[in-house]
Amino acid sequence: MQARLLPFLVAMACASLGSQAAGAAGVTRQMIDADARTGADVLTWGLGTQGQRYSPLRQVNTGNVGKLVPAWAFSFGGEKQRGQESQPVIHDGKMFVTASYSRLFALDAATGRKLWKYEHRLPDGIMPCCDVINRGAALYDNLVIFGTLDAQLVALNQDTGEVVWKEKVDDYAAGYSMSAAPLIVDGLVLTGVSGGEFGVVGRVEARDAKTGALVWTRPTVEGHMGYTYDPDGNRKENGVSGTAGKSWPGDLWKTGGAATWLGGTYDPKTGLAYFGTGNPAPWNSHLRKGDNLYSCSTVAIDVKTGRIVWHYQNTPNDGWDFDGVNEFVTFDMDGKRVGGKADRNGFFYVNDAATGKLLNAFPFVRKVTWATSIDLATGRPNYVAENRPGDPTSATEGKGRTVFAAPSFLGGKNQMPMAYSPDTKLFYVPANEWGMDIWNEPIAYKKGAAYLGAGFTIKTLNDDYIGALRAIDPKTGKIVWEQKNGAPLWGGVLTTAGNLVFWGTPEGYLKAADAKTGKVVWQFQTGSGVVAPPVTWEQDGVQYVSVVSGWGGAVPLWGGDVARKVNYLEQGGMVWVFKLPKP
Ligand code: CA
Ligand code: CA
Repeated sequence: MQARLLPFLVAMACASLGSQAAGAAGVTRQMIDADARTGADVLTWGLGTQGQRYSPLRQVNTGNVGKLVPAWAFSFGGEKQRGQESQPVIHDGKMFVTASYSRLFALDAATGRKLWKYEHRLPDGIMPCCDVINRGAALYDNLVIFGTLDAQLVALNQDTGEVVWKEKVDDYAAGYSMSAAPLIVDGLVLTGVSGGEFGVVGRVEARDAKTGALVWTRPTVEGHMGYTYDPDGNRKENGVSGTAGKSWPGDLWKTGGAATWLGGTYDPKTGLAYFGTGNPAPWNSHLRKGDNLYSCSTVAIDVKTGRIVWHYQNTPNDGWDFDGVNEFVTFDMDGKRVGGKADRNGFFYVNDAATGKLLNAFPFVRKVTWATSIDLATGRPNYVAENRPGDPTSATEGKGRTVFAAPSFLGGKNQMPMAYSPDTKLFYVPANEWGMDIWNEPIAYKKGAAYLGAGFTIKTLNDDYIGALRAIDPKTGKIVWEQKNGAPLWGGVLTTAGNLVFWGTPEGYLKAADAKTGKVVWQFQTGSGVVAPPVTWEQDGVQYVSVVSGWGGAVPLWGGDVARKVNYLEQGGMVWVFKLPKP
């Protein structure tokens, strides 16, 4: 009864308090659909559900960005200074930003004053693979919603920070966790799961964003049943994903991975949500002959039905941990709605957004060893058979033949999202050049234990750089310009109508370059490594640029030789906000 009364009371309050209160009434579907075009707010991870990370704002531009100065900074505080991969969201003068260890802060977006914070109580046994990070929150109505490291979804009141609803998504003791920003589509909150290194089963879930009640679930491993749920929580079968037993041998599909750990994008034009899927489990590919659907793929899901409309598999029978989770960013090319994806495996793909048909594919890193090219007719990679790590059962001493592979399993690109500019028609891709020694070992599934069946050491390829921000033409595959970086790039990218590209570096800089030429026109030292994507918004006539700083994530934990090379970098936990000085 209370729940039914509440919206009515809120509506009454807005009517009597005028336009200011009406603005606070909440984030609507229409506002989310328009997010990419509205400079006054940032409502979604990706500055719009398509994930282009393009802002129409031009107050800050190539002519004046050199004058950009800090407006304010805010520390996440405590002893929890670990990797900060969060993209802030901004609505109605408030910034909502997540931090390491499943924390969320609400700040005054103009001054940085803390309004409230939420610290999620985490159990001791959480198993995040790649640092205690979070990538951001979603906004809907008067709620701010985010996923936690113990695989819960929490919705808080934007004004007070009070918990409105909280749902357990899955069992953290089996390796499930959540780190991606949720995606809101038509009043539903769409989420994936993390845990591909522990043999979880990837899936996408849709919940009523206002209540947290499940609406549908869609597994991303072939053979598992999808369900729809009625308002009372009764579930109904909604078709098996794929065809059971077709692309997996034996029972391996039961712990098949394909974790949807980076969340998804959505295009209102196609009505499809696009989720990338991670590695099949375990890493040892000889145990699972076959394509292992829908691992290492883009999966397009009809949001209304919870059914898979198409899939495109970037790395069939993956043997290198080439998670295909990278964001599928839709844009217009030759009058057609298509999607671009810079995959961890080193190739950039362009697919028809409505059908998944492969239209173009080319490498965006200089060294790729596992395949020579992608066959545009069949859509499949041309593998280099001898560059697949060997079968441990046909070797001595229980270890398969070691191969040198590039990219490394940390990828030509990893979690850091790219940007697309409709002005320049270029993608801005945070790429990395590195390789690895990798070998396979015998492995059996055990709940809550790492399920790899592989060993590895990451290696550098060049003395002078690992990272490279690359401006890439999706039609020709040409690298139009690049800015090399000593450490691997691990933050995301923002591009603006001011002809600017913003990105951060582990060395601590937030940089801006001319979007057409790549010339660096501004940089600022944030005091710790930047592994998060910048945003921009306009408030009271002032354009602000913001990024979270705080070194960490997967590189220091998994990076082998590269981790040693960058072990001088210091941890942190700050939000920085910049603006132009008053004229
Ligand atoms: Ca907006
Ligand atoms: Ca993985």
